[in-house]
Amino acid sequence: MPSFVIAEKCDGCKGQDKTACQYICPNDLLRLNDEKTKAFNQETDQCWECYSCVKICPQQAIEIRAYADIVPMGGKIIPLRGTDSIMWTVQFRNGNIKRFKFPIRTTPEGSIKPYEGKPEPTEADIKTPNLFTEIGKTLPVPAK
Ligand code: SF4
Ligand code: SF4
Repeated sequence: MPSFVIAEKCDGCKGQDKTACQYICPNDLLRLNDEKTKAFNQETDQCWECYSCVKICPQQAIEIRAYADIVPMGGKIIPLRGTDSIMWTVQFRNGNIKRFKFPIRTTPEGSIKPYEGKPEPTEADIKTPNLFTEIGKTLPVPAK
């Protein structure tokens, strides 16, 4: 069930260098047709339906479409992502629509400061095998 870009809704992320769907796809599947400024999934059989592109698209232009033998007659799922919640709209094949809203974070967006209080890494730190949280520490050498 690969992702599908609805051309009428896609605005090519307003001509930015890299579109939101290109940025987020872990498999580099989305491409932008520069002439038409519309994105498309260039290799649908490689899509693992992670929904990342569907959730990030600011125009709600991407759907995951079910194969007709599994979900005949046009069932589909469309997410609408907000800053603190996500709303899933599920359209059943008989036309019924249900909506589910879930919180997606417990802190205000932008409030997390992952580097606060952490030292700047030096050139020497970068050359050690230490992780970010181990900067400046001398780690025990494992026994051979
Ligand atoms: S993120 Fe949405 S609007 Fe932007 S290029 Fe992709 S499909 Fe189009
Ligand atoms: S659903 Fe996931 S793997 Fe498929 S095109 Fe979108 S981001 Fe890529």
